[in-house]
Amino acid sequence: MARAALILYYAKPNRFSIAALAGALEARPELRGLPVDFPSDLARLRRALRAALRRHDLVVVGFSLATPQMEGLPPLLARLREDFPERVLWLAGGPHPSADPAGTLRAGFDLVARGEGEETLAELLGRLRRGYDGRGLAGLSWLDARGRCRCGGARPPADLDRLPPFSPGRRVFGPIEITRGCPFACGFCQTSALFGRRPRHRSPEVVAHYAGLLASRGMFDLRVVTPNAFSYGSPDGRSVDLPALRELLRAVRRAQGPSGRIFFGSMPSEVRPEHVNAATLALVRRYAANDNLAIGAQSGSRAQLDAAGRGHGVEEIVSAVAATRKAGLKANVDFIFGLPGEGEADQERSLALIRRLVGLGARIHAHWFMPLPQTRYAGLPPAPPPPRFAAELARLAAAGVLYGQWQGQESLGRRLAGLRSAGA
Ligand code: SF4
Repeated sequence: MARAALILYYAKPNRFSIAALAGALEARPELRGLPVDFPSDLARLRRALRAALRRHDLVVVGFSLATPQMEGLPPLLARLREDFPERVLWLAGGPHPSADPAGTLRAGFDLVARGEGEETLAELLGRLRRGYDGRGLAGLSWLDARGRCRCGGARPPADLDRLPPFSPGRRVFGPIEITRGCPFACGFCQTSALFGRRPRHRSPEVVAHYAGLLASRGMFDLRVVTPNAFSYGSPDGRSVDLPALRELLRAVRRAQGPSGRIFFGSMPSEVRPEHVNAATLALVRRYAANDNLAIGAQSGSRAQLDAAGRGHGVEEIVSAVAATRKAGLKANVDFIFGLPGEGEADQERSLALIRRLVGLGARIHAHWFMPLPQTRYAGLPPAPPPPRFAAELARLAAAGVLYGQWQGQESLGRRLAGLRSAGA
């Protein structure tokens, strides 16, 4: 039996995924006792790696990566490989490697875990400890001797109830993912490609169990991860199942005890506009502690909404904001500017909608489009912001009604589109 250790790079943008991976390892009796470290920066990673190599035959270093994190990664990984040339297996997973396994392997990784990584990582570690390598394992990709990308078979969608959402044993906690998968497959979003279009929900009993566990350790504030909070319990993810929503919220609040709080429909999750109505808002007001809803609008142009496949129109956005404000909650509304093919008329429509929403008391969370692999908009360049449009966004930001990282995303999006088309 090889003495193996695992290091999971615990970078801030990936902490939720790392907590879920650590939870999955904890659920495997055969992996009890596996040493796992969670360095949060590169200096700590190097220290952890040196220490692990002193005591173990093999160290797996796992990174969860979103597309923006790929920029600048290959030279950094090359330096790490040079400094630690032996007995280290460099593994990547997460949205970007899942969507572009070949590109990620060519960036310097030994293995890529595609899609839902929990079971793949656990099985890989079991195999490595028994002295086999991971090639051939379902969910993994690797390069063969001629540099061609090879893939083990696909893995069936995971049953969330069988996976702990985080790792109490190693004290790595995060929000509880209540739903995985989304039917909408919006043109700019990776969620449906990564997790499928059929939503899978963690049962109220299991969510409540972990909410109670957090509370028993003094963590009374629960946040949830889901593509669309109000679709909880819905078999197709398109409708609202009010009894299921109520059951979940009630079960969580009961399990948490009197000091507990759940934040539902606010960051890090959001809600679709057509699901915001008096009934869903009443549930939030009754059971949840958030003072705001995060509402996905994305554009004020019907043509852009249709092109992206959003499945809702502009008026649903206005109604959602009006209802949210009427219910006494703040409305934080997501917009994505620079969608492929977005012209001046589309941008004017978005600005007109923003003015209308701000008039109703909303705040705008502004993003600029970034082309992500395995989406319909992969490789397409973002539409550049005309000076007048950028100036208007800056004016709204100065007035305190618009926030977000859109300026940095705009230049990164252009670089990503350039990188992808150059590499294609
Ligand atoms: S943007 Fe939201 S609704 Fe659209 S595919 Fe992604 S998660 Fe689903």
